[in-house]
Amino acid sequence: MLFSCNNGQNTAFVSDFSDSQASEIDPNFGIVIHGGAGTILKENMSDSLEQAYRDKLEEAIRVGHEILKAGGDAMEAVTKTINVLEDSPLFNAGKGAVFTHEETNELDASVMDGATLNAGSVAGVTRIKNPIDLAVEVMNNSPHVMLSGEGAEVFAQTRGIKLVDPSYFYTEGRFQSLKRVKQREAAKKKMGFIADDPLIKNSKFGTVGCAALDKNGNLAAGTSTGGMTNKRWNRIGDAPIIGAGTYANNNTCAVSSTGWGEFFIRAMVAHDISALMEYKGLSLQAAAREVIHKKVPALGGDGGIVAIDKDGNVAMEFNTAGMYRAHMNAEGELIVQIYKDE
Ligand code: ASP
Repeated sequence: MLFSCNNGQNTAFVSDFSDSQASEIDPNFGIVIHGGAGTILKENMSDSLEQAYRDKLEEAIRVGHEILKAGGDAMEAVTKTINVLEDSPLFNAGKGAVFTHEETNELDASVMDGATLNAGSVAGVTRIKNPIDLAVEVMNNSPHVMLSGEGAEVFAQTRGIKLVDPSYFYTEGRFQSLKRVKQREAAKKKMGFIADDPLIKNSKFGTVGCAALDKNGNLAAGTSTGGMTNKRWNRIGDAPIIGAGTYANNNTCAVSSTGWGEFFIRAMVAHDISALMEYKGLSLQAAAREVIHKKVPALGGDGGIVAIDKDGNVAMEFNTAGMYRAHMNAEGELIVQIYKDE
């Protein structure tokens, strides 16, 4: 599906034709979020659970929108919005992270600042309550872009980030998902149809992400995830890979991805969308469509993105049955959607 909300007001000042005086207006700021893409079907969802998802998406996006409305940075809006989703057990990030094969939780996150092209990311952390905050610390206060595992947690302590006990990430629902996937995988392995099994495939989604444009015309994006249920060998997905899971460039757009990470890495999804805009002059919608509906499925992958461009146009594009998503524009108009045909 495509979505556009550009009101054409991209400059700080426009003529007020009614009284011929120049009046100040806000640039076309906006914010867009996702809570994961996958086989999200209405028939599998209770009314109360659906409402809980919609309420949490709205709560999160309003946090970021308030920051932008008050003139705050896109990066602050992105991280504070993602914090709300990380703290909710509904989403596969922070508190709701999925379990690894070893019954642990390993979290990945990244951020990118479109004004400077600075970026920060963490992979495989097990004791960081809000991995997106640590990604910001890596970007702002380390000479590196990407830190992983225990080293990232040592760095976190030097930045005053409190570590939590890994048990913080335990949720019964995610643990049961792991058990189901393991059982199914054990059975299917003999038959050799692992990748085709809907239960296995569909237990792998639920990342959160955000892209924002602030009143100064700066873009930022961030993504945070627990990765994929039953992942092993310290597998790292696309979410902490700059250019795959997250990308932002003030000349083009800010993008956050969700989906089958292996394919999103190989397709360099987030950067590809920006590059199609930068080098080929495509609109955000056309670029997102090209990557999500052609390039990723051609490789065999699925998932989606949310993105906002430098003019405030928004794309919420996915090739799965659903994607938890929301958008708020400069006028405060709110859209919260889950399924494909909404
Ligand atoms: N992209 C994430 C990963 O592969 C999963 C997701 O988006 O749900 O780790």
